[in-house]
Amino acid sequence: MLKNILTGNECAACRICCVFDKYDLWETPVISRQLKETIQEKYPQQQFIKKDEGYLLRMSEDENGLYYCPMLDKEKGCVLADGKPFDCSIWPYRIMSLGGRRVISIASVCPSLYDKPLSELVNELVKNGLAEKILGYAAKNPGIIKEYQKGYPVLFVE
Ligand code: SF4
Repeated sequence: MLKNILTGNECAACRICCVFDKYDLWETPVISRQLKETIQEKYPQQQFIKKDEGYLLRMSEDENGLYYCPMLDKEKGCVLADGKPFDCSIWPYRIMSLGGRRVISIASVCPSLYDKPLSELVNELVKNGLAEKILGYAAKNPGIIKEYQKGYPVLFVE
């Protein structure tokens, strides 16, 4: 989550981005080999799914059909703290592929965004250099680029 856009309190009260259902499992964070190894050392029971050159955390479905990220401590939040996956560190932004171009969109499921001015969300990308950072990371880690999903407003086109 981006501290310029969301506060720790907002995220602590929500955590929608750390819980998935069968329709948004595509949203689970793609992690690097290095982070996979760090997690494996600390949580040897954790399993992974290979995705392109990266990995996904294997998650189990609960009795309500939800998949909680195994790195989520329901009391304390993400156990990876500042070492969380890049995908999570840029939430609520998403890099996607649309018509052969890379675009940056925003996750419309994030309730804290509903009353944020669009200019604030775009400024974070353009004036604060976040778009450049995301595109640079994605160039080295293309597995984080997700197929465009309907309903995700596009804020930046490469
Ligand atoms: S790695 Fe951390 S921030 Fe990312 S989905 Fe899992 S619990 Fe949430």
